[in-house]
This record gives sequence, C-alpha cells and structure tokens, in this order.
Amino acid sequence: MKYRTHSCGEIRKADVGAEVRLAGWVDSIRHHGKVGFINLRDRYGITQILVKDDKLLNKIRELGHEWIIGVNGKVLARPKGMENPDLPTGEVDVEANEIEVISRSEIPPFVITDEARAKEELRLKYRYLDLRRHPMQEALIFKSELYQAIREYLHSRSFVNIETPILGRSTPEGARDFLVPSRLHPGKFYSLVQSPQIYKQLLMIAGFDRYYQFARCLRDEDQRKDRQPEHTQLDLELAFIDEESIFELVEGLMKHIFANLLGMELVIPFKRMQYNEALEKYGTEKPDIRYELFLSDVSQIAKKSEFKVFKEAEAIKCVKWKGDLSRKELEELDNVVKGYGLRLSWLKYKEGSFSGPICKFFSAELLKELEVEDKDACSLLFVAGNENRASLALGGVRNWLIEKYLPQRKEYRFIWIIDFPMFERDETTGEIVPSHHTFVMPKNPKQLEDKPESVIGKLYDLVLNGVELGSGSIRVHNRDLQEKIMKIIGFNEEQRERNFGCLLEALEYGAPPHGGIALGLDRLAMTILNKKSIQDVIAFPKTLTGVGLLEGIPSEVDDAQLNEVHIKVKSQNSTEKK
Ligand code: ASP
Repeated sequence: MKYRTHSCGEIRKADVGAEVRLAGWVDSIRHHGKVGFINLRDRYGITQILVKDDKLLNKIRELGHEWIIGVNGKVLARPKGMENPDLPTGEVDVEANEIEVISRSEIPPFVITDEARAKEELRLKYRYLDLRRHPMQEALIFKSELYQAIREYLHSRSFVNIETPILGRSTPEGARDFLVPSRLHPGKFYSLVQSPQIYKQLLMIAGFDRYYQFARCLRDEDQRKDRQPEHTQLDLELAFIDEESIFELVEGLMKHIFANLLGMELVIPFKRMQYNEALEKYGTEKPDIRYELFLSDVSQIAKKSEFKVFKEAEAIKCVKWKGDLSRKELEELDNVVKGYGLRLSWLKYKEGSFSGPICKFFSAELLKELEVEDKDACSLLFVAGNENRASLALGGVRNWLIEKYLPQRKEYRFIWIIDFPMFERDETTGEIVPSHHTFVMPKNPKQLEDKPESVIGKLYDLVLNGVELGSGSIRVHNRDLQEKIMKIIGFNEEQRERNFGCLLEALEYGAPPHGGIALGLDRLAMTILNKKSIQDVIAFPKTLTGVGLLEGIPSEVDDAQLNEVHIKVKSQNSTEKK
C-alpha cells in the first residue's frame, strides 16, 4: 500500500476532483457539528481535511494532536470566501472518505506552533517535537541547501572533498581537547580533533591543491553564547595561492550562496580593515559595520583633566551617544565595562551644559575640546585603561547600545579583518601565544627574533554583521621557519616533535606554498537567517554547559566499560574540591 500520493504541501486548485491519499501529523482538529476539519501537517505544509461522513466524524473525536493519520479523499475547491491566503494549499480541501490511524501520540509537552513558546530545556529535551516546528524545519532545510550550494561552487572550481580523521593527536591548538582513551593501548589517548588543520596542510603537501570538507570540530571549551562543543566548519585549503586568491574565492562563494539561496546580489569585493583600525573604531575585531557608531581616542584631552583615573591611564576612549541615558542604564553599561576589569565614566550634555560625576574635574576650556555639538543632547561614555582593553570594553558598550536602541538593519555587511598580530601575551601567564595558531606565515619574518609581538601574520577573519564567520591564513611551508615560530611560542624540541613531528617532517618533502580558511557553517546560517542563537540552526545542540538534555549526556558509564579503557574515575568529591 502506498502511504501517500501527495505531500501535505502540494495540492492546489488544479487538483480539484482528484482522489488523493495523504499521511501526516494532526496539527489541529475542529468540530462544527455536522462537519469537522483537520489540519494535516508534514514537512511540506498543511492541508485541510474536511470530514462530513458521520462515521468518520465519530472517528476523528478519538484523534489527538500529533497523531499520524492516513487520509483517502477527494480534492474540493473551498467555497468562495473560505480560502486561506496564508496557506499555499488554502484554496482546497480534501474531503475524507477514509481515515486510518497510522501512529498514536502521547499528549505532547508543548504545542507545536511556529513561535517557540515552551521553555528552552523542554524544547531541547523533546527536540524531535521542537524540530517539527516550521521555523526549525525551515532552518535545517536552508542549511542543507547551503551545503549543496557550497558543493556546487567548489566542485566547479576543481576542489576535492576529502575526509580527515576525527580521532587525532592531542595538539595545542588553542582550545582544550576532548580525550578518547584507547582500549588496545593502555594509558594512551586519541583526541577528538579541534579542526583538520594539520591534515589539510598534509593534503597540500600530498598534492591535492584544492581541498574542502564539511568538518566537525570538537573543542572542550567553556561554553559561551553561540559556541557549541561540536560545530561544523567549511574547511578549505589551497596550494600555490596568496591572500588575494582566498579573498576572491570566498567572496565568490558568498555571492553564489546569496544569489542562489536568497536571490540577492552581494556586492564584492568586501571591505577590508586592519585589525588595529577595527579595534580603535569599533572596539572589537568583529565589527558590525551596519551601524555608524564609532569609538574615539580622547586620551590627549582627558589626560589634561584633574580626574586621577584619566591622568594615570594609558588611554581614554570615548563613545558619543546621541541621547540621554538613565542612571539604571548607566549602571548596566558600567557592568558591561566591569566585565573587562575596567569602569565606565560619563558626562552628559544638554542645552549647552555638561553634568555628571566627573564634570568637576574638567575646566570649561577642556570641555569645549570634547567637541559636542550645541543642539544635541548626548551622553559621553568613557573607558580608561590599557589601550586595547579600554577599546574592547567600550566595544562592549557600543554593542549594548546598538542592541538596545538602534533599529535592526536588515542588510548583510561583510568585512575582512586583516593584519592581525601573529602573537599575543597570555594575560595570566604573560607568555607569548599565537593569536590564531602556530602555522601562520609572518608578513615580516625578520622581526621574529627581536620583536615577535610586532610581527603581523598573513591572517584574515571574515566577519558578517558583527559575527566572526571564520579565520584563515597563509601557512608556513618551510621547516626552519615553522620551528623558529614554535620556539618563540615556547615549544622545546621534544614538544615540537611530539605535537607536530609529522607536519615538521612533511615540510621537508616538497611542501608547496599554501593557505586556507575555515568558515563556521552554523554561524553563517544563523546570521543569514537572522536567528538569535546558534541552537536555532543545529538539529541536536547542547546547552550552554555542554549538556545534551535529549540523550542525557554527559553520563556515567559502567565500571566494565571503564576497565576496558583502563580508566578509573576519581570520586566525585575529589573532583569537586579541585
Ligand atoms: N583551522 C583553523 C581554525 O579552525 C582555520 C584555518 O586556519 O584554516 O580556526
């Protein structure tokens, strides 16, 4: 028997008179005495089933929401005035002559509606029900099409799709590894790869000069908004290229995606901005350039004030907000700044005069230097501190203001951030660490020894509407230079061999110049679809603390399993004490 001749989204007026069979979930049931209506739903849409037959009317009284039924019936045109313009199938009904219960459902813990009304925990626990909601289905189908568009584009440009291992070696790549104990080799571990970085470089050395993969990346990080312990990247690597070729490739790819999936013409090339400029102007390395709200450096002026904090600070940054802010709002903004270990100071300007707690430290002359326009009421928000940190904190303030007050601009603004420093200092240990990863080609390798911190990397990030879509770089393809960089980062010979031995050796066997990028596909889908959270585009996400509510993970395993992999778990108390 055929379960269905049509989906619930495809019957139209042209089908009137046809005998059809549909199968789907009961979305709603309405009884009106001598007639009843069922909205039958599947992935493709909703069709209204009309029930007039007495026997069937009795039968549908037993049905509940989310039951699956099969319906045999005839397509009828809806009477004039009864059409539903909101439904693509809204001009027809299917009058049932047979209804069969295919699968029953418990009363669902929440109603399946477009808008997510249930609590997040409940939605995640019953994810298979949450995924029945139209926006979730739409998002996952969009992602599937996104993957398809990417494949098309890359295959037409000679890219080869190659899978690389998930079980890899634990390497210091920035985040913490998930470890997998080996059963066959007691005391030894695999690590779940954070990214296929080393493998894709090895593929270049192997001669596949254009590689891509939809790569699962696994990172045991403390969870933050829009991070998941596992996520999918479009991982790309190319040989015999420079930065320009990568920009062009990725811009072409985005253009293809937007044209094919959204029918939109993207303007390329994308704007480019140096990392320093992004930090100075926007207070972040992932600026949302849709909004023209800029930071300025007022150190020269503010240091002349009598305010001790300003006098002693390395730099004072300011955002001029054209509007008044309440005390409560200023407190909230101060909390944002406190998150960066600094404090907010402010002045208000209204009808020609300044006010605010630090006003008394500024002479009238000095206030003039702040160049506030006469007619505007505004709030001057200051953060003083170390140059970068003050910018970052004020960047946080900028984001807060945008989110709260500026109408959302429905446009897509891409920007490349370039010229990142190769290294930064770890704030806690003071040690030099790579600002991206170890394999980045320096722009000015001569400075590596004397002034590593001033070395700029051939590094680039792609940012869309303030969301970092991904990072990439041109890589080092010569062993000596690679080892020199690893030494600067503090890896001794033993560590270099242990962690990166296979790559270092491979670099000695004819390594072509190469580079690449990895773009977060969940973030791309989230940003294009304008979703609030990355969870809205992932079928089975974890919570912010890495918990899978559906499967109940992470979970204990039994002792036999632990024995097999030669692991003994410390008692809970001893782990808690740590
Ligand atoms: N492997 C890098 C990452 O995951 C991306 C790249 O450099 O291509 O961030």
